[in-house]
Amino acid sequence: MLTNQDYLFYLLYALIITALIIIFWLMKKKRKSPDPQQGDPVGAGVAIIYSPAYAIQLFHWLPNKTALYSKYEKIGAELLEERIVTFDRLYIPQTVSMDDLNAVHSEPYLQSLLRKQTVAQIMDIAIPSYVNDKTMQQRILEPICAMVAGTALAADTALTCGFAVNIGGGFLHAKVDEGNASFIINDVAYAVYCLRKKGFTGNVVVISTDANQCDGVHSHFRHDDTVTTFSLFQADAFPLPKVNGDVDVPVSAAIDDDEYLDLLEQHLPSLLKDADPQLVIHIAGADVLKSDPATDLSLSEKGLVRRDMFVAGLVRCSQIPFVHLLGSGFGPKSWRAQARSIKAMVQEYFLPAG
Ligand SMILES: [Zn+2]
Repeated sequence: MLTNQDYLFYLLYALIITALIIIFWLMKKKRKSPDPQQGDPVGAGVAIIYSPAYAIQLFHWLPNKTALYSKYEKIGAELLEERIVTFDRLYIPQTVSMDDLNAVHSEPYLQSLLRKQTVAQIMDIAIPSYVNDKTMQQRILEPICAMVAGTALAADTALTCGFAVNIGGGFLHAKVDEGNASFIINDVAYAVYCLRKKGFTGNVVVISTDANQCDGVHSHFRHDDTVTTFSLFQADAFPLPKVNGDVDVPVSAAIDDDEYLDLLEQHLPSLLKDADPQLVIHIAGADVLKSDPATDLSLSEKGLVRRDMFVAGLVRCSQIPFVHLLGSGFGPKSWRAQARSIKAMVQEYFLPAG
């Protein structure tokens, strides 16, 4: 004979099981990507490329690096919250497929990315054993593909509007058949490929101020005379050995804000003069910050903003279309410094495309 207490117990039990099923379903539910959108430049004429689909989401409650990859959504959320850009003015990219990426990566490498172990290893993240390949693809690979599409859209948009910021991208270490140090797909190589396919024949300069040498970018364009690659990086940091680029400027970890800016002023004007670009792409990594745990450079947040403003100002003063990308830097203060720099650039005056 069941008592009232027994009924209550079974009811509670059923409620708990139902709640667990709903929570599990919500966790597994695929996030719907927003439709592509043609936005409008904001502030002084800056196109902001971003999609909520950039959010890398995987097991943030586990003590691993996935929580650190949240800078993209944090910056996007802050710019929207402070109405630096409204949602209807965002440029929202399509995504890219593995077939699209065949142009810049080898088929075996792309196939390997469909396996969870490959992605986990490159991103240096721990994953629970019950996570399957499909879940990894949805939560990590698809956001990355959205950002790759974002860089391609930024490059295309910059040619008409002059200045485009992708709140993501700058995956500088991805080579044709190898991903490294968090980066699995080379968005810069893909963006240049897309422009060439559409008939753009102008010279391109890629400036990397990430703390690590842009070995993946260097290797992609090693035999391409139309693309000049520049990297200013911490000499004794990853990658070791380096891949030779067109212009490499190794620096010691002891360099301060002023010395760092002096070096850019020393190299970049002549680089732009010699290469005569019709597009400049800046991989503006945040791992130059003193607070970054992965490198030993010690720029201040103010120094990072000065760096980004200097590069953007120099390029736009020459009326050269310009793309700004985030690069690496997954330290606790990275997102805040990069958001500050984007806000500063949005508010500054930039000339329209020449
Ligand atoms: Zn880096």
